[in-house]
Amino acid sequence: MFKKILIANRGEIACRVIRTAKHMGIKTVAVYSDADARAPHVLMADEAVRLGPAPAAESYLKAELIIDACKATGAEAVHPGYGFLSERESFAKALAKEKIAFIGPPPKAIAAMGDKIESKKLAQAAGVNIVPGYLDDIAITDEAVKIAADIGYPVMMKASAGGGGKGMRLAWSEKDVREGFEATKREGLASFGDDRVFIEKFIEAPRHIEIQVLGDQHGHIVYLNERECSIQRRNQKVVEEAPSPFVTPAMRQAMGEQAVALAKAVGYYSAGTVELIVNGADPSGKSFYFLEMNTRLQVEHPVTEEVTGLDLVEQMIRVAAGEKLAFTQKDVKLDGWAIETRVYAEDPYRGFLPSTGRLIRYQPPQPTESVIARSEATRQSSAAKSGLLRSARNDGVRVRVDDGVIDGGEISMFYDPMIAKLITWAPTRDAAIDTQIAALDQFVIDGIADNVDFLSALMQHPRFRRGDLATDFIADEFSDGFHGAPADEQLLVDLALIAAKVAAISDERAHEISDQLGARTNGSRERIVRIAGAEQRVRIKPYKGGTLGVVDGGELVDIVGHWAPGQRLLRVSVDGRARIVQVRRVGRDWELQTRGRTHRVQVLSPHVAELSRFMIDKPAPDLSRLLLAPMPGLLTRLDVAVGDSVEPGQPIAVMEAMKMENILRAPKAATVKATPAKAGDSLAVDQIIVEFE
Ligand code: ADP
Ligand code: ADP
Ligand code: MG
Repeated sequence: MFKKILIANRGEIACRVIRTAKHMGIKTVAVYSDADARAPHVLMADEAVRLGPAPAAESYLKAELIIDACKATGAEAVHPGYGFLSERESFAKALAKEKIAFIGPPPKAIAAMGDKIESKKLAQAAGVNIVPGYLDDIAITDEAVKIAADIGYPVMMKASAGGGGKGMRLAWSEKDVREGFEATKREGLASFGDDRVFIEKFIEAPRHIEIQVLGDQHGHIVYLNERECSIQRRNQKVVEEAPSPFVTPAMRQAMGEQAVALAKAVGYYSAGTVELIVNGADPSGKSFYFLEMNTRLQVEHPVTEEVTGLDLVEQMIRVAAGEKLAFTQKDVKLDGWAIETRVYAEDPYRGFLPSTGRLIRYQPPQPTESVIARSEATRQSSAAKSGLLRSARNDGVRVRVDDGVIDGGEISMFYDPMIAKLITWAPTRDAAIDTQIAALDQFVIDGIADNVDFLSALMQHPRFRRGDLATDFIADEFSDGFHGAPADEQLLVDLALIAAKVAAISDERAHEISDQLGARTNGSRERIVRIAGAEQRVRIKPYKGGTLGVVDGGELVDIVGHWAPGQRLLRVSVDGRARIVQVRRVGRDWELQTRGRTHRVQVLSPHVAELSRFMIDKPAPDLSRLLLAPMPGLLTRLDVAVGDSVEPGQPIAVMEAMKMENILRAPKAATVKATPAKAGDSLAVDQIIVEFE
């Protein structure tokens, strides 16, 4: 076994790999750019080597610097994580030349699968179902139009070298092909240095289901069941789960066997994923087609670990060291249900605008023991000491947080905007979803925007809970943008009580500090609570150990739970209902965040409430109708004019900030009403670039 390995990555995945290496008694070397000098992966590793400046092209993507770092530290093997150099054949080859092991597949398998056209041909030859289409480079638009008509609309135009959801366009008609074909070619060339584009049938009611495979260097290869990743935004995954609610044991076996056949055809070893697109309208489950194979560890690998009990990183390391798989296909378990949500630095309330900056406060939910061994540091964390670990395990559910950021850290525009992955496991799908909701409620992120409310809304969505998934779920169900998850009457009543209690404690404290606010009110008091556009008349009375409250002359209920001014996370039981609420003071108002919505709440004395009724409310601007500058920078391009109609996700402007080009996209289908900013303008953050009808 290796004594020392280098992790050629950053963020959560570097931390994830280091954790397993430590558990295996292997020393670790981290690498970092100037932006990451004090990042968690650097602190976690035994040694760290600086690569270069912040841009990935000058640091994490420089193969020769990584090889130098191996030589300098004596690392015998490299784990590439995902992204960066993980799928570069040239990198795997360069390592082999230096007799450094690559903790991944053989270079020729990376090459064979790196190209969508070539890999589909290979898959077809291996007896794998492929999406009907035209598997060759198409030169000109007229040819594309003819081919698209032959295949039958709708079709997908795809850059052969594309990845990460980029270089892909859907066409419903000849008009779409005429308008988009050249652009797809240009995008392929600009993003991947390759302008070959092919066309395939668009599978309707599509579900994205993928098979995890794992092989050793001795010809053994198994499939570790499926993951469903149909919840996507702009072809990028947001929620993943294992198993899939759509897949039956027969389907699992058929998909698994095809995936293994393909892997064998390219002499695959290590962990890899065969992505399939599945026609969800065909309940026979026979309509599944090969999309591509990812020759690396995937972002969503933890859900597979949680249901199979296998540590995939450990398996990859063992395979790279030449060990044989210690189990066979029939030993592969499928236990319970695991769900992963990706916590991104983006604002779902404002068209998912990306957000960067400092994490003024970062406090993820307390993890329980996962199947993946945790480092000694984590073991000794407050979670373990508080005994939470044990109690949560007794509930029969697990919470796992894979992250690579810390309190006070920075989400930089140089890298992926993912803050963390939240993985929950439970015996049933419903329980795994409920565990997500409770854990998301405890995710404290300040300083940058995050999508936690949106993720919680997804978890509560009745259609998601039914397992009725499709890759256009988000576009369909949130076609009007996101405005917070719906809150039921009971929750609003409970929040009104919580707000009154919190405000009362806060007032008490103010009185203790200074007496200038007048007489103390220790007894019962009445408050008007404004929440969700309505007013509730709340009366609360503190007693030793809790608070009694009553709303609008209803039943008297008990509110039990400690809160002190400044405390963010409030766990409280209202008449026996457990509520987890994040409390923020915003000026004179309160913000209560729970279950996928951030409620602005006012708590007023009846007198003040009466007076304020005569004040004019300034309506909040509807931000979903605006494209705002997500960061200060230069507007280098504006591709729309007044009257243009745009599709969701369509690139409409380019901003240059910190030497990076940032493509800004339409948040939804809309018509351009005004363009207050012009190309060449220097913009402040939140400055309006485009207004939609
Ligand atoms: P997964 O299927 O594991 O979710 P994604 O397609 O979302 O993978 O990509 C995972 C990571 O790899 C992301 O950071 C993404 O930006 C990066 N990535 C994917 N494809 C490419 C590519 N062709 N070139 C550069 N980075 C890529
Ligand atoms: P990438 O390399 O960017 O990951 P993929 O080919 O894996 O590209 O496709 C990414 C996503 O795009 C899929 O998960 C699916 O949602 C959608 N997609 C791709 N091809 C098709 C198709 N032929 N029909 C329907 N949806 C598709
Ligand atoms: Mg893909």
